[in-house]
Amino acid sequence: RKSVVRITTGSQALDELLGGGIETLSITEAFGEFRSGKTQLAHTLCVSTQLPLSMRGGNGKVAYIDTEGTFRPDRIVPIAERFGLDAGAVLDNIIYARAYTYEHQYNLLLGLAAKMSEEPFRLLIVDSVIALFRVDFTGRGELAERQQKLAQMLSRLTKIAEEFNVAVYMTNQVIADPGGGVFISDPKKPAGGHVLAHAATIRLMFRKGKGEQRICKVFDAPNLPENEAVFQITPGGISD
Ligand code: ATP
Ligand code: MG
Repeated sequence: RKSVVRITTGSQALDELLGGGIETLSITEAFGEFRSGKTQLAHTLCVSTQLPLSMRGGNGKVAYIDTEGTFRPDRIVPIAERFGLDAGAVLDNIIYARAYTYEHQYNLLLGLAAKMSEEPFRLLIVDSVIALFRVDFTGRGELAERQQKLAQMLSRLTKIAEEFNVAVYMTNQVIADPGGGVFISDPKKPAGGHVLAHAATIRLMFRKGKGEQRICKVFDAPNLPENEAVFQITPGGISD
């Protein structure tokens, strides 16, 4: 039987909101406006996942699927230093791939499953999970097909989380265009409709505060109080 591992976000307040950190065996989704910290949290988790369990890490490797080209290896260096880890070793333990189409993204997941059966991974990042679907299926007439393919990919993510005791951290977009259509009717809503809403174990909504301050709220969790946590983006990653 696999037991849940909780991986620190770097912020005590955010960890407390999450019940100790982001969890393996489940999917954590973060959505929110641009620059709200979704990718910065991904960078911090790349490092904290490699910490020993005694330091609230996951003692494992990281897989990073990047659809937006926003992963910055040089950003990992000061974060590793903050946590007292060797930056070179940390970078060696991040398996990185850039995805260019939704099919490519799906195929990368298939390839990762093979890797994960050979080496101990504890985190899979998909940043962002939906961007390519929104590019590859543009017309309103394609929405049903898009949602079907999206569901297929999300079920792979669930399977990976459960089979390899991995935490999946995926980012999502909010809809900026308030034009017509079921999924773009409310500018504050996360993209992906019901399909994405049901895949995530926990949904986090990020927004900007003053300066480098950010606010995270648990979104739409019937069993949890809708608490908020305030955190900061620092050169050493996410922190209080
Ligand atoms: P998008 O929707 O555009 O992908 P995002 O939610 O992923 O946005 P991030 O890229 O995580 O946003 O956040 C970017 C913000 O993080 C920057 O605007 C800046 O405020 C902050 N930031 C980035 N690097 C550093 C750093 N080295 N030190 C402090 N703050 C930083
Ligand atoms: Mg980003």
